[in-house]
Amino acid sequence: MDEIKLSDDAIEQIKDFVHDDLTEEQNSLIDKLILNEKLKERYKKYDLCYKCSQINTGRNYYRSCKSKYFQQNFKNWTSGNHKVDEFIQKAQLEAEHYVKVIEWIDYDKFEDIEYLAKGVLIESNILACDPSSGLVVRCFGIAKDPKTNNFMMVMKLKECSLRQHLDINFDSLSWHDKLILLYCVSYGLDDIHNSGLIHHDFHCGNLLSNFGIAYITDLGLCQLANVKSSQNDKEKIYGVLPYVAPEVLRGKEYTQESDIYGFGIIAYEICTGLPPYHDIPHDEFLAMKICNGLRPKSNYKIPQLIFDIINQCWDADPSKRPKAVELHKLYDDLRYNCGKVDSATWKQAKEADEINKKS
Ligand SMILES: [Zn+2]
Repeated sequence: MDEIKLSDDAIEQIKDFVHDDLTEEQNSLIDKLILNEKLKERYKKYDLCYKCSQINTGRNYYRSCKSKYFQQNFKNWTSGNHKVDEFIQKAQLEAEHYVKVIEWIDYDKFEDIEYLAKGVLIESNILACDPSSGLVVRCFGIAKDPKTNNFMMVMKLKECSLRQHLDINFDSLSWHDKLILLYCVSYGLDDIHNSGLIHHDFHCGNLLSNFGIAYITDLGLCQLANVKSSQNDKEKIYGVLPYVAPEVLRGKEYTQESDIYGFGIIAYEICTGLPPYHDIPHDEFLAMKICNGLRPKSNYKIPQLIFDIINQCWDADPSKRPKAVELHKLYDDLRYNCGKVDSATWKQAKEADEINKKS
């Protein structure tokens, strides 16, 4: 990663400026000194590094300075596993923001460890995801359980898994609440896709809930979208069967569109409160039926406008499924309209509530 650097002369001229409160005169000087638009934007947002006076790459963070610092510290820790060491080191060297840094954490530092989910740490980039929505739970570091020798990804604790949230609170969730959850999940997924990643194991157990907001997690399985899976990986179908897209069940490669299929199943689950195919065994017969067009079904009434989107997401033809970026915009609109008395969404939500009350 080559960095455009400011000359000593340029630094000298601007070092006393207040980066986010420039006078008109200072602004035009900046325009002259920093020709690269992205760099200029970064200056106005993040200021100069207090150590070397180059333009920060993130808040109080200049990649070159920080990576030097991390590199000097490499000799002071090891996970005991070469691959894990490399994985952490790479993240530390390439991070442009604090949020993308992960660390090796001593197990002794933990109290009350809570295991959320098991994941497989693949040598990809859990941190490549640009966290602009804040809805993808970030990993702080990696630690190792000395008893089991398992590596663990350390994350910020949320209230509970989304599945638990649905189990406990479903009856009190309004359609507006559900639309907020759908908005969060689709927005987080958009962040992942936008970063060129595929979630690869997108199911309700990988979603967390905190005060009515849903977060995406278990990015351990995220793989860069342009990395072709190896022959071995291809034979292995990841994921929880009800959420796996029919094309993947048939042996095709997992794509961002397959994540969207998983999203459709998740959306149905959020709307009805029921885990998909909860009343039939998850076996090869179910897989066959899904390939032949089976989708979750229930008597629980979903407002048509919401169901139409779900129906597109789980279309058998991946090219007909909406993109994550479209999804979160659609849900944002529906969420807004759902609160507006007499809007079509509001009417459909009311009607659905009345039907569901009776049954
Ligand atoms: Zn610096």
